[in-house]
Amino acid sequence: LEMHYQPKLNLQTQRIVGVEALMRWHHPALGMIPPVQFIPIAEELGLILSMGKWALEQACADALAWQKFGLPEVVTSVNLSPRQFESRTLIADIKAVLESSGLEPSLLELEITEGAVMANPEHAAELLRTIRDMGVGLAIDDFGTGYSSLSYLKHFPLSTVKIDRSFINDLSQDADARALIDGIITLSHGLRMKVVAEGIETVAQLEYLRSHGCDEAQGYWLCKPVPADEARDFMARHLRNQFAPSVLA
Ligand code: C2E
Ligand code: MG
Ligand code: MG
Repeated sequence: LEMHYQPKLNLQTQRIVGVEALMRWHHPALGMIPPVQFIPIAEELGLILSMGKWALEQACADALAWQKFGLPEVVTSVNLSPRQFESRTLIADIKAVLESSGLEPSLLELEITEGAVMANPEHAAELLRTIRDMGVGLAIDDFGTGYSSLSYLKHFPLSTVKIDRSFINDLSQDADARALIDGIITLSHGLRMKVVAEGIETVAQLEYLRSHGCDEAQGYWLCKPVPADEARDFMARHLRNQFAPSVLA
């Protein structure tokens, strides 16, 4: 297994403010296998618990290595599967990885899906509060594709809403998708949550989201998910370009 990282851009400051950690399976014969193919199986076999713990450890270790390299701090987001969310050892695992890595809890964010929290909303609310009290951020992933129950946004201590890629994809030719995006941004900001758009592939999508108040964006337009050393180099290059005097100035 390997962790890859996809940078996130703050749409106001143009800085890289975070990365999403994404798991890859490097198969000796079949090559790189995408997570949509192996995570459901790992979930079914119960293997996701140890794989998810490893992902958390690896992501925290890489985040710390980038800091030691001299890069500005970024928030690292790690995906949690529904099965991990039900695990009794989740809180202890998060605590242990923060302690052993030494990563500041505020620099870690966990991404969960609507399905994981809605399976048992009361248990979820308690778990999420415990995680929030540890100082770790919480994002709701693929927002708009699952239950999209608006009341849970109010009851769960979430810090971030991630607009699903399908809305971004439809943005240019579908007024309804734009209406939903605008609604999600307004709603999330009203509830004091940050909004991240995923799957940005064109500058037109980026500009739409920026002008409509979306906070952060990730997608192939900025950078595909890449191995840790490439993510580090990308962040260093982005930082240099940001401070380099413009040729036209
Ligand atoms: P996700 O958390 O919603 O991750 C975003 C997915 O969108 C990633 O797919 C990413 O590569 C892809 N993506 C990003 N930008 C673009 C873009 O501009 N265009 C397109 N077409 N795609 C883009 P990936 O890496 O294949 O991961 C798929 C899903 O697998 C993730 O969706 C997440 O639910 C799951 N996953 C990945 N890594 C982990 C992990 O470590 N643990 C768990 N439990 N699930 C994981
Ligand atoms: Mg995610
Ligand atoms: Mg997503």
